[in-house]
Amino acid sequence: MENTTYDLISTSYQKGKLYFNNRIKSGNIPICSAGYVKGSCKGGHQFASIQFCGKEYCPDCSKDGSPIHQRRVAKWSEKTKDYGNMGYLVVTIPDYIRPFMFSRFILRDFRQKLLRKLKEDYKIDKGLCRYHWFGDCANCSGSGCLSCNDTGSGDFWHPHLNILFESGYIKDVEQWLLPLKKWISQYLKKMMMVQIDSCTRFLKYDFDGEILVQMDDLINRKNQISPESLVVDYSYVNTDAKKMNRIKYVTRSTFRIYNVDVKKELYNFRNSVVFGWKKGEVQESFDDTSQNCPICEQNGIMHQIKWNILQKIKPNTYIKNEKSTGTGRNYIRIITGTDADNTNGSGYVPLLHNRSAKKIQWNKVISNNI
Ligand SMILES: [Zn+2]
Ligand SMILES: [Zn+2]
Ligand SMILES: [Zn+2]
Repeated sequence: MENTTYDLISTSYQKGKLYFNNRIKSGNIPICSAGYVKGSCKGGHQFASIQFCGKEYCPDCSKDGSPIHQRRVAKWSEKTKDYGNMGYLVVTIPDYIRPFMFSRFILRDFRQKLLRKLKEDYKIDKGLCRYHWFGDCANCSGSGCLSCNDTGSGDFWHPHLNILFESGYIKDVEQWLLPLKKWISQYLKKMMMVQIDSCTRFLKYDFDGEILVQMDDLINRKNQISPESLVVDYSYVNTDAKKMNRIKYVTRSTFRIYNVDVKKELYNFRNSVVFGWKKGEVQESFDDTSQNCPICEQNGIMHQIKWNILQKIKPNTYIKNEKSTGTGRNYIRIITGTDADNTNGSGYVPLLHNRSAKKIQWNKVISNNI
């Protein structure tokens, strides 16, 4: 893939970020939100960290630049900030094998063993890894069109594994990839053998013509697998901007068109994997909850914000977007109450949350199941 494919994401990422910022600023937050985590300081200032569902197929959270995407990008870029060059491996599963990779157990096993292989034979012992489940829409190549419900996403199962690690130029990259391809080929053949064996076992008890046909098909597919025919891409980038774009690209959502079977299979599947770092080795400032109240800070007082549990959005909650002094992070200030003065020129807007609209939107998402 050309570099430009990865560079395009910085535009869509900005666009998605702006979309969420505007929705939050206006109080008309995306419907998937379950509410907010409330924070308060000793000085009585109240803040809200608005929560979104984060589902890959949510029409809002699936957007490039959504809060969940921003979160992934922040985590990954902190991990890789000391990388000189960044290498990028994409392991594609051949189309005739994909239906057999529709299993959380196999997906996990394949990833785990592949990472072990990289560690042992390639000395890649630190990196980040994430599956993409679907490719881009064949019609619009990801820019959004009618046939993909403007999601830009393809609708056929197309798992491929992305791995980022510290690495640069590799001389004779095909030669370098060969042992890995051999290993993948062996893995996939073995996986097909398990299927073939179960047919053989079945035939021992009960002769069934259909099973024979099925077995033939499985053997055919197995025979197509070879290291030479596998698609494994390696590339690398050497600037911070390009590194950032790779991270944004790998961490984006790809399962954007709702499909109930995929949803069930991937339920609670841990997709992002970070390997080789010790716990706490990298300070994750994105998760840093020890923030001081920016309002008190302006008056020279340090009051830490204490965050509470998730709260549902009640009527008559008003919010105001406030830029903090220090970190540049936006704080959402909230006040509750029926006081209409809250909205009069003070910058507060009512926080809207329409439950019946939520139901309608989800029904629409589900009915778009192709
Ligand atoms: Zn959502
Ligand atoms: Zn499309
Ligand atoms: Zn305060």
